[in-house]
Amino acid sequence: MSKKFARVLLVEDDEDDYILTSDHLSQLESHSFEIDWVTNPNEALEQLNLGKHDICLLDYQLGAYNGLTVLEKASKSGCIIPIIMLTGQSDDTLDQSALAAGAVDYLVKGDITTSRFARAIRYALARQEIENERVERINAETQNQSKDRFLAHLSHELRTPLTSILGYTEILLNGNKAPNAESELNIILNNGQHLLGLLNNVLDLSKIAVGKLEYNFCKINLDSFIADIFCLMQVHAADKALKLVMRGQDPLPLVIHSDPLRLRQVLINLIHNGIKFTEQGQVELTLWTELIDNKEILSFKVSDNGQGIPEDMLDNIFKPFEQVEDYISRKEQGAGLGLSICAELIKHMGGTIQVQSLLNKGSDFTFSIDPGNIAGQERALLDFEQEHSLSENLSLAKLRGHVLVVDDIDDIRLLIGRICQSFGLKVTYASNGIQAIEKFKLASSQGWCFDLALMDIHMPKLDGKRAIKELKALGFDQPILAVTAATMKGVKQELLTLGFNQIVAKPINKTELHQNLANYLKLENPAKATLAQPSLITDNKLNSKEQSTQRIIVVEDDADAADVTVLLLKSLGIEAVKAQTAKQCQDLLKNERNWTKILLDLHLPDANGLDLASSIKQSHPDITLILVSGATVTEQKLRQAGIDKAILKPINIEILKSLR
Ligand code: ADP
Repeated sequence: MSKKFARVLLVEDDEDDYILTSDHLSQLESHSFEIDWVTNPNEALEQLNLGKHDICLLDYQLGAYNGLTVLEKASKSGCIIPIIMLTGQSDDTLDQSALAAGAVDYLVKGDITTSRFARAIRYALARQEIENERVERINAETQNQSKDRFLAHLSHELRTPLTSILGYTEILLNGNKAPNAESELNIILNNGQHLLGLLNNVLDLSKIAVGKLEYNFCKINLDSFIADIFCLMQVHAADKALKLVMRGQDPLPLVIHSDPLRLRQVLINLIHNGIKFTEQGQVELTLWTELIDNKEILSFKVSDNGQGIPEDMLDNIFKPFEQVEDYISRKEQGAGLGLSICAELIKHMGGTIQVQSLLNKGSDFTFSIDPGNIAGQERALLDFEQEHSLSENLSLAKLRGHVLVVDDIDDIRLLIGRICQSFGLKVTYASNGIQAIEKFKLASSQGWCFDLALMDIHMPKLDGKRAIKELKALGFDQPILAVTAATMKGVKQELLTLGFNQIVAKPINKTELHQNLANYLKLENPAKATLAQPSLITDNKLNSKEQSTQRIIVVEDDADAADVTVLLLKSLGIEAVKAQTAKQCQDLLKNERNWTKILLDLHLPDANGLDLASSIKQSHPDITLILVSGATVTEQKLRQAGIDKAILKPINIEILKSLR
């Protein structure tokens, strides 16, 4: 039989006894041992706290100390290594005190040569093995449970936007192809982007798990970098009427060295969370530099005055799959992956992240990165602020023309393009100078030219300054506006000298951009402007023939998914009303009669769908309850909650027809 291996900590102040004990250990047949020998209580406690041994043999008499003190201290600090107390002579009282203090056995040194010693060691190690297996099993079970919960949650998070995407596409395909499908297409686009964000997070996390996430460190122009982030995030802040501020505490280096993609990802995630979990007030990004161990580091703080995070959750939120609220009763979307990815990315950028938070007061997420050598860098003050202003929503005069939007950051390019489209302009995109030239050449070969170009300055491959020279040399004679944060002294003048007609400041303000464009482009003939009308949906086969007696409540907290389900039901001639919370559903049941069915989402902000189902089943046993979930729910749970049928998201018209 091959010997098992075990690590022994031998606490013994007498060298002869040490040699004697190790000799006997090496003669045991059951195990081969690696022995660490320490001679005093402090070293013993230190080693025990490391937890790397399988067993400890502890001499009772350690010079002036006695082993009981070590035993007591070790048990108090949570040591789980089995400790066998060794003493010079047998003593019943001491035997009992040792066991009471946490020893697994008590042996007289004279017994070392006997089978009693061998047995005591074997038993202690076997017990420890069983205990280790038990702990491992519990850990694995807990991990599996949290993975299962996460998978069910992720499935729900992925399927909900799919309901909107597929549902609205179906509506557009089945409908009368109304010319104003803009609002439906926007919903499809937004949900598609949300889905893409989720998938990217899942992919990032799995790459992080196997150490395959790639980093790309390069020069970053800090002012335009922050301006771009401001640009993107102010749209979200404005949606919730929140104030957004980004500022440096002191002048900041204009150029740093880091991974722009990953740094942007971290900042966007933190600011996005700030906006997501704040209902009123502001979200602020503050930057500063500080000297730590003679090295200048760059720090960032994202503060909000939102709902805050309970103290007992603060440690957990950087772990994957963790969210403060239970998945089942969450108000906000999200897979709970963002912060754990942020923590990992920040580690690779040479820093750490901390959080401070007070419930109902707000949260501060602070992190620092290594910005490379910034000692000799030119510095400038950075200060962007945006009150949510109604003027943003004022309708601006429609413009006419075809604009080339050149920017290397996908989100910014799309954002600028979408703003231009909202002014009535046609848009073509290019993600760097080379692509811009290609698009221009293609247009020229077809006999037309863009009416204007909006050009970012810092771009890979061919930057804005070199691109304008080449475009002009090729005969591009329409206005070219530079889009830049341009904090650096003399940049504006340089750009004008290069031939840019005007500088559009980043972060982009919609009204200012409109004014700048209106200086060069024609206004659309106002008589031609049309008012957007919601597209009509009709299901010809069903429309008037089948006046359904069905009345359905759609309980779904995701507004897009709720709207599209109601629209699809209506297209089938079914009367349907949405409720976005359990409370709204209960109110509808109280105030109106004759509901025939309820479609119930599992995740609601104020209740678990299953609990809501049970309570409805009791008060309204005649109503058919249909669970619409993102992950399968066991038959038993469905039965217990009184649910008649369960369908899996995404819903489509065929599924809804089958419910009639
Ligand atoms: P999620 O995609 O769920 O937002 P994150 O990892 O980004 O995932 O965040 C994890 C959880 O931490 C969130 O679900 C939320 O409960 C909490 N949290 C993160 N940021 C904030 C914040 N600024 N205010 C309040 N809670 C927050």
